Amino acid sequence: MDASSARRDLEAWRAEFPVDPFAADGPLRRLVERSEMDDERRRLFETRMSGFARRVATEVGPAAARYEHRAHLPELVRYEGFGSRVERVEFDPAYHDAGAVVWDSGLVADSGTPGRAYEQATLLYLLSLEGEAGHACPATCTIGLARALRRRAATAVRDRFLPALLERDYSRAERGAQFLTEVQGGSDVGANTCEAVAVGDGTWRVSGEKWFCSVADADQFLVTARPVGAPEGTAGLGCFVLPRRIEGEPNGFALRRLKEKFGTRGLASGEIDFDGALAWPIGPLEDGFRTAVGIVLNTSRWLTAVGATGMMRRAYLEAAAYARHRRAFGRRIGVYPAVRATLASMKSGWLGNLHLWWLLTLLEDRIDAGNATDEEAAFHRFLVNTAKYAVSVRAPQVVRDGIEILGGNGTIEDFSILPRLYRDSIVYESWEGTHNVLVAQVLRDLGHLELVGVVADRLDALIARATSPTAAIVGQAAKEARAHAERSIDDPPFGALHFRGVLDRWLLAFQAASLLAAGPGTEEEAAGELLALQHLDPEHRSAADPHHAERIDAVLAGDADA
Ligand SMILES: Cc1cc2nc3c(=O)[nH]c(=O)nc-3n(C[C@H](O)[C@H](O)[C@H](O)COP(=O)(O)OP(=O)(O)OC[C@H]3O[C@@H](n4cnc5c(N)ncnc54)[C@H](O)[C@@H]3O)c2cc1C
Repeated sequence: MDASSARRDLEAWRAEFPVDPFAADGPLRRLVERSEMDDERRRLFETRMSGFARRVATEVGPAAARYEHRAHLPELVRYEGFGSRVERVEFDPAYHDAGAVVWDSGLVADSGTPGRAYEQATLLYLLSLEGEAGHACPATCTIGLARALRRRAATAVRDRFLPALLERDYSRAERGAQFLTEVQGGSDVGANTCEAVAVGDGTWRVSGEKWFCSVADADQFLVTARPVGAPEGTAGLGCFVLPRRIEGEPNGFALRRLKEKFGTRGLASGEIDFDGALAWPIGPLEDGFRTAVGIVLNTSRWLTAVGATGMMRRAYLEAAAYARHRRAFGRRIGVYPAVRATLASMKSGWLGNLHLWWLLTLLEDRIDAGNATDEEAAFHRFLVNTAKYAVSVRAPQVVRDGIEILGGNGTIEDFSILPRLYRDSIVYESWEGTHNVLVAQVLRDLGHLELVGVVADRLDALIARATSPTAAIVGQAAKEARAHAERSIDDPPFGALHFRGVLDRWLLAFQAASLLAAGPGTEEEAAGELLALQHLDPEHRSAADPHHAERIDAVLAGDADA
């Protein structure tokens, strides 16, 4: 094979990216078909998703490739030419072109309509085929702030701030940000020292330093701050909204610098000093922490799980197509069993997490619409933290496998999107809660809220729908996970050390069961069997399974010529 035929193979690989990534996503479309959306909603949903997916591929993707490049990253402009302070962030024009497409999709504007979680999650998943792309975080933060204002704020505060967040026209829309983290602690939000002083007319003045401020260019900031005299810890935190400008001037803040980040580089994240910034409370002050975590952070955790799965999907698309075209030692690399095994592992990772966020989104949809049962609200409490943890851990692994399939080319920035996806997916692991902190939170909730039975019953119901013989392995793993979860609650030293491993297996059992429940002969069922045999079978039978290659073929069967 000569150089020009090798280049032709690469061009054929590049050309294979689907024109409509929603239409090409069979497993997602099957979830949509089986969802509880009525026919009218589903029809509108499908048209809308296809339209946005096409625009992501043709408009957002090329724009993001430009503004994520190190030569075109956002810059801080603190003063204008005549020396007045402006505290502005300047972006490459392509950034705003992509923003216009994202906002026009209604991803953010849907926050004004309770119960649009399926639409919002799927739009975000499709956007995340391009990584964070500079806009996934701003859209997520704006959705969280809009939800908090809609659900918790006093009418006058809501009417003042919410409408501009729901604007679909990017050039007129205001964007939201959420600043909790301070230098002395991100996980430990109760250590916040930012202070709020009452003005006396219902507004407050906020002062102090916020250490990680993504969407530093936002028009509205949600901040946690402690009213003077309020108790220490999380109980004393209020939740406020601060407009960026008051009468055209920066509202009592100075952007110290933009952080130079490893990933999510198209997004401006800074450090901000507040000095008497004018703020309005979002809901009762004593509920500040509950608003910040229960609405805002939980929204971000849900959408982080969704976005990380979109990145896995993209990595799989890149790697699977590459394996169909790239030749080594005279053969397409996609025929080599070890390459197929890696692809099947990537695909089952993506599919398991796709099913997980879909399950979570059903709960989000009902909670946001006010239709959720107590059982659903309890299960959501478990799933939102668990999904954020588990999906964000798996995403970089899947992307790294994709890089490996592309060989040396996988490490080259302008060869494929994979290096950027890898960096972005690692950032997703830490923001909105690090691994151990989320795991500890899940353990606390299981104990305090008595959730073990709720989780176990949900899993048993999924397993009962599966017909594959592998369901027995999942059933056994579920039983053991339940027992170990109970022990983790009763025996704190055991839990502190072992619960993370317990949760990993519990979650894998959920993913496997949900995939098996897709039914006989589906690629989902084959992926569920693979997950169960490789990760949950105590006898590790997959190593010597005579049907292992067939199962891999079945996992990959949904892809053309896989
Ligand atoms: C690119 C980027 C953008 C961000 N943007 C924002 C933003 O816009 N707004 C915002 O508020 N924050 C933002 N963050 C901050 C982010 O939410 C925090 O980094 C995160 O919550 C972790 O806090 P920390 O960095 O202070 O880590 P720490 O809390 O110092 O944790 C350090 C390590 O200790 C572990 N640890 C801590 N406590 C425990 C425990 N009890 N048990 C076991 N292990 C523990 C953690 O898991 C972690 O591994 C951003 C972060 C990044 C990377």
